[in-house]
Amino acid sequence: MSETEAPAAPPRQAGIVLFGVPVRFHFTFLILVLFVVLGGLNDKKSAAQEALFLIGLFLSVLLHELAHALTGKAYGVRTIEIIMYPIGGVARLERQPEPRAELRIALAGPLVNIAIAGVILAVQGGPAAVAKLSDRPDSLLLRLAVWNLYLAAFNLVPALPMDGGRALRAFLAMRRGEAAATRIAANMGRVLAVIMGVYGLFHGEVIMALLALLIYMAASHESAASQGKMLTQGIPVRSAMITDFRTLPHGATLREAADLLLATSQQDFPVVNGAQVIGLLDRTSFLRGMAADGPESYVAGVMDRGFLKLDPAADLSEAVPALNEVGACGLVMEEDRLLGMLTVENVSEFLLLRKLGVEPKA
Ligand SMILES: [Zn+2]
Repeated sequence: MSETEAPAAPPRQAGIVLFGVPVRFHFTFLILVLFVVLGGLNDKKSAAQEALFLIGLFLSVLLHELAHALTGKAYGVRTIEIIMYPIGGVARLERQPEPRAELRIALAGPLVNIAIAGVILAVQGGPAAVAKLSDRPDSLLLRLAVWNLYLAAFNLVPALPMDGGRALRAFLAMRRGEAAATRIAANMGRVLAVIMGVYGLFHGEVIMALLALLIYMAASHESAASQGKMLTQGIPVRSAMITDFRTLPHGATLREAADLLLATSQQDFPVVNGAQVIGLLDRTSFLRGMAADGPESYVAGVMDRGFLKLDPAADLSEAVPALNEVGACGLVMEEDRLLGMLTVENVSEFLLLRKLGVEPKA
């Protein structure tokens, strides 16, 4: 379907790896399989033919996503993974590309489908084959050509999260800035979703109604992510971090951690050995430790040693996705020195104060 920016995710179940890009299958991919098989049964086609057709369709979608990934690579944007969904598939890019690159990355996918259809039609007899397309062709290859044209057309709809929406966003971003461009393209997605949803419900098209819901959620997610990014862009982590906080010595027990948890409003505690930070005790590991080993056990046994480290000069727009990923808090460190802590709540408070006109430090 489209390419999307995303923070690095932990590796999930194994799939295949093509050109260095992991490919996974979303369980809803089965819906597409079911849909095509049921459609084929109605038309009394053989199961073998249906299977071949499905494989062809699957390869078309995969080539579409690989086109996004490889074009991204040409612009220096890595693809974390390709996930195959029934409505196409998603190439998750490590970050949102520059508008000029995004335009090309977005269009590369649908262009591949148009090319596949073109090649099939050329091989199948050129104009004569094109003429046959309108009356539901029986030929496997011609059906594949038709579906590739469907895929291209659907993906070129100028609304987020479709490729056409990304192309539109990139095109508008060059003229009106990224925030306005994303807002417009995401609103197009919401409008499209409402129209599709209403149509689907009134005509009993369940799959279309579900698709509409997915599009609506994805469009809303895009616009929220863009707003968050806009609000936090250009602000260093140092400005928003908590500088007044308590730490726990590495020899502390969970009982001492409990006392501190009650005495302060802090939820996460850096665990230190002298000036050196050796871990982070968050609420979840605290509770887990209490339940498993009781209050006399040591914080060093349950703390997180692989905690998130943030550079004080790093941009907040990059730190926030990382915070969301770990789900708790990050420690702001310069070399080995602990300068502060950063949590999602405290970033929200910082943004609120800023909105009220309180300027950030530094
Ligand atoms: Zn696409």
